[in-house]
Amino acid sequence: MGKLRILGSGTSTGVPEVGCTCPVCVSADPRDNRLRASSLIDTGDALILIDCGPDFREQMIHLPFRQIDGVLITHEHYDHVGGLDDLRPFCRFGEVNVFAENTTAYGLRTRMPYCFLEHKYPGVPAIELNEVEVNHSFFINHTEILPLRVMHGRLPILGYRIGRMAYITDMLTMPDESFDQLHGLDLLVMNALRIESHMTHQTLEQALEAARRIGARETYFIHMSHHMGLHATVEKLLPENVHFAYDGEEITF
Ligand SMILES: [Zn+2]
Ligand SMILES: [Zn+2]
Repeated sequence: MGKLRILGSGTSTGVPEVGCTCPVCVSADPRDNRLRASSLIDTGDALILIDCGPDFREQMIHLPFRQIDGVLITHEHYDHVGGLDDLRPFCRFGEVNVFAENTTAYGLRTRMPYCFLEHKYPGVPAIELNEVEVNHSFFINHTEILPLRVMHGRLPILGYRIGRMAYITDMLTMPDESFDQLHGLDLLVMNALRIESHMTHQTLEQALEAARRIGARETYFIHMSHHMGLHATVEKLLPENVHFAYDGEEITF
C-alpha cells in the first residue's frame, strides 16, 4: 500500500495568481490555493518526488525531514523544475537521484550548469542526473517505475506509472500505447487545466474523457488554473470516483 501527498495542484502561475481578484483567487477555502504541481509518493520502499517546482521549499518545510530516494521529472518547464536548487538540504542524506529523459536532462544541465561542473562551487546541490527512456522501466530501491509518453501539445514529455498508480501532468494527448500501459490502476493523478480549450493542456472535458478511458479506481485532477472555478462548486460536477485534488491532500493506493 502506498501513500501519495499532493504537494501542489496548480498550474504554472499558481492560484491565487499574482494581481488577480477573481472569486477563486480571493477565496477563503484553502482548497482554492494551489501551489505549482508536484507530488510526493511513499511506496513503503521508497520516497519519490514527482517534479520539483518553484514552490518546493514551501511544500516541504512542514513535512518530516526524510531522505528522498528519487526525483522523477516530467519535463523541463519552470513550474516543474524551478525548485531543484532547493534540494540542497536533502543532500545531507547523500546525492539526490534525479530521473529525466535525455532532452530534459540536457535542459537541466543548461539551466543549472553549476551543479554539473567537474569542480563544483561548495554548497551546490549534489544531484545525480539519471537519463531514462520512455517505455523502459527502472527501479528506485525495489520500486519499479515505468516512464510513458505523454504529449504536452507538440512537446513529448513523460508520465510515470508506479505499480497501481500513475502520474500524468501537462498532457494534451497521449498515444494509444500509453493508454494500454495504464490498465488496472487504483489511482490516476492527471492534469485538467480549465473548462475552455487550451493549446497544450487538457480541458476538464478532455480530462474526464481520458479518465473514463483509463478507468482507474480513483482519479484526481491536478494542474488547475483559477479558470476552473471554485473547488466546492466544480467538485460537484464530477463523477463519484473523480476528484479535484487539493494541496496537502493525502491519498492511499
Ligand atoms: Zn506545467
Ligand atoms: Zn484569479
